[in-house]
Amino acid sequence: MTREPVPPTPRKAMTPARRFAVWDRYQGRCAEPTCAVAVPLKGTTIDHIIALELGGADDFDNLQPLCPACDRIKTAQDAGLIAKLRRLLRRQDGTRRERREINSAPFPTHITRGVDGRVRPRIAKESAR
Ligand SMILES: [Zn+2]
Repeated sequence: MTREPVPPTPRKAMTPARRFAVWDRYQGRCAEPTCAVAVPLKGTTIDHIIALELGGADDFDNLQPLCPACDRIKTAQDAGLIAKLRRLLRRQDGTRRERREINSAPFPTHITRGVDGRVRPRIAKESAR
C-alpha cells in the first residue's frame, strides 16, 4: 500500500447479485480468518477490505462479508486510518484546525514574592535611584 493520500472512491449500489457473489466467494462465512462464523446472506455487512475513503476500489475483489463483531472492529480500525489520512491531507495543503484558547486563571498581579521567598502584596515600583 502506498503512503500517498488518495481521493475517496464513489460507491456503487450493492445489488442482490453482488451481495450473493461476495457472500458465496467466502462460502457464507465471516471473512475474518480467526472468526469464519457462518453469516446469513441477507443483512450481513459487505465490507470494503480497503475502505473507499482510503482509496479502496468498489469492486468484487475489495469486498468481503463480515459478522457484526468483526464489522465493529474493522469499522473502528478504518475510522482511525481515515482520521490519520485527513490529518495528512490537512498537513499537505497547509490548513490547520482552529486552536481553542485555554481559559486559565489570570496571573495574579496584586501579590509578589520577595527576596526572602515570602509572598507579599505588590507595591507600586519606586523609581530607580
Ligand atoms: Zn467475524
